[in-house]
Amino acid sequence: MKRQYFLGLDVGGTKVEGAVAELDSQSHSINVFSKKRISCIHNVSEFVDSLATLVTDLLLEAKISIDDLRAIGLALPGTLEPKTSIMLNGNTLFLIGHDVVGMLQKKLNTKTPIVAQNDANLFTLAEAWGGAGKHYAAYKGIPFEDQVVIGITLGTGVGGGFVTMGKILKGAHGSALEVGHIVLQSGGNKCYCGQQGCAETYLSGTAINKTMDSKLLLALATQGSQDVLQFMIDYRINLVQFMSILNNLFNPHYFVFGGGLSSQPVLFEDLKTDLEENIFLSKEYCPEIYINHLGDSSGLFGAMIYAREVIDA
Ligand SMILES: [Zn+2]
Repeated sequence: MKRQYFLGLDVGGTKVEGAVAELDSQSHSINVFSKKRISCIHNVSEFVDSLATLVTDLLLEAKISIDDLRAIGLALPGTLEPKTSIMLNGNTLFLIGHDVVGMLQKKLNTKTPIVAQNDANLFTLAEAWGGAGKHYAAYKGIPFEDQVVIGITLGTGVGGGFVTMGKILKGAHGSALEVGHIVLQSGGNKCYCGQQGCAETYLSGTAINKTMDSKLLLALATQGSQDVLQFMIDYRINLVQFMSILNNLFNPHYFVFGGGLSSQPVLFEDLKTDLEENIFLSKEYCPEIYINHLGDSSGLFGAMIYAREVIDA
């Protein structure tokens, strides 16, 4: 059988990661042939040029041509209009209003389909398909297609995704699950979006860094330092309230966390016990909580899984 290659690109605030891989639908696993990371240039035309160079390098390393690819999937850090894939909002400002897909298609001069989707949506899709969802399926006997999943990324910002029946919920204009801008504290911290008290201003790495360097703070917390105790208590109250709102709206089988802060176990210790006290149903119905299983690569893999879904539809 002819090999089915996909190329994924994951654009972050400071870096772009790319890979060429095959997706195994039987085992829900990903066979990577080439992988590379470059820094993100904050000028749209130079940025697209650098993406094209990255694509060429990845194809060279995987020893295939662009015509061997079934599709290219692109994970972008913002709200993408579902019909045009143009970024309508996001904290990576230089991408707003630009047709990155169209520009890349032109630059690569290819007929290979290119699709784009929000990075937190793709994180959730990848974890449900081939990460935490595989564990959940083995544990509860509920396969990917029947899982109801919320992904939350705690990094520079706070992102979210929702996957049900194997599909991403995009919303009318692509801003479904922009959970970072749920207001947790009326009249609270100012957010770049214009509101006050957004979840992102309490739960992101950027928010922690405003109090104290997040790595130092979490190291102190691990040592049981009294100085950071109150901060951790407040952080946890906000996180549980945030998850409780999402559970009331979507009632997932499980939450899966990604982003830089998800590698800090101290933030998640006994989180399920706290959440159990804050859900509408009795505690045996409390969603499970997972830390991502695919690490930094979930956005990238999600882009490939989504690209396949779009071209097969
Ligand atoms: Zn906001």
